[in-house]
Amino acid sequence: MTTKHIEFNLNMGKQKPESIINTSTKCPFCDRDNLEGIIAQDGPILLIKNKYPVLQDTVQTVLIETDECSSELSLYPKEHLHKVFNFGISEWTKMEESGHYESVIFFKNHGPFSGGTIRHPHMQIIGLSNINYLDTVFPEHFEGLLIDTKNGVEFNISTKPRVGFFEFNVLLKKPNEINQLANYVQLAARYILNNFHRNCNSYNLFFYKLNNIISVKIMPRFITSPLFIGFAVPQVSDRLEDVVLDFQEKYFK
Ligand SMILES: [Zn+2]
Repeated sequence: MTTKHIEFNLNMGKQKPESIINTSTKCPFCDRDNLEGIIAQDGPILLIKNKYPVLQDTVQTVLIETDECSSELSLYPKEHLHKVFNFGISEWTKMEESGHYESVIFFKNHGPFSGGTIRHPHMQIIGLSNINYLDTVFPEHFEGLLIDTKNGVEFNISTKPRVGFFEFNVLLKKPNEINQLANYVQLAARYILNNFHRNCNSYNLFFYKLNNIISVKIMPRFITSPLFIGFAVPQVSDRLEDVVLDFQEKYFK
C-alpha cells in the first residue's frame, strides 16, 4: 500500500495563533463576537470553520467545547461533558453522511506534547477528500486488558497499541450509550493528567468508527519514541496490569 500524504500550507500555518506556550496570546475562541463561520451550536458549544485551513484537500472544522478558556475536559460537570460528546459525535456523523469526503477524522489535542496550538478546550472534525483513515486502523489496536465495563461500553488499556506505551480505549458496543463513553473518556483524561506514574500534561483523543463500533483512543503524550518515528515499531509497557489495578483502585472502588 502506498502512503497518501496531506499537503500542509506553511504560509497559512505561520499566521496561526499559538496560546499553549505563548500564554499572552489573545485567545481567538474567547472572542465570540468575532467568530466567523458558525456551522452548529448547542449553548456554549460551537462548531465553526477553521480560520486557518492548513491542510489541502480537506474541510477543517473546530469544535469549541466551552466558553471557559481555562477549563479542561477532565473537569467538566457530567451534564456538560455529555453535551459535548453528543454534539461532537452527531456533527462528525453528519459530515460522514454528507457523502462529500472519503472519510472524516475527529480528534482532540491537549497540552504542549499533543500537537495543539490553542489552549482553549476544543476538538477538530476534518473531512478528507482523498484519504480513508481506516486504511491504517485495525481491530487489534482496540484490544486490551479490561479496566471496567458498564451499559455495553468497554474501557481497556491496549495490549497492541498503535504507537505505545500506554493507550486507553473506550468501545461503544451499544449505540445509545454515548454518555457512558464520555464518562470513561473523562476518567482516562483525569487519570493521565493527575494520577499517571510519570508526569504528564498532554493527551490526545482519537475517535474511530470501525465495523460500526465507535471507539475512542485516549493517548497520554510524551516525546515520541525513535523506534516508532524511525521504524514504525510500536512498544508496549510491561506494567499494564499495574496501571489497570491502580486505575480500578482510584476510580472504581
Ligand atoms: Zn479562550
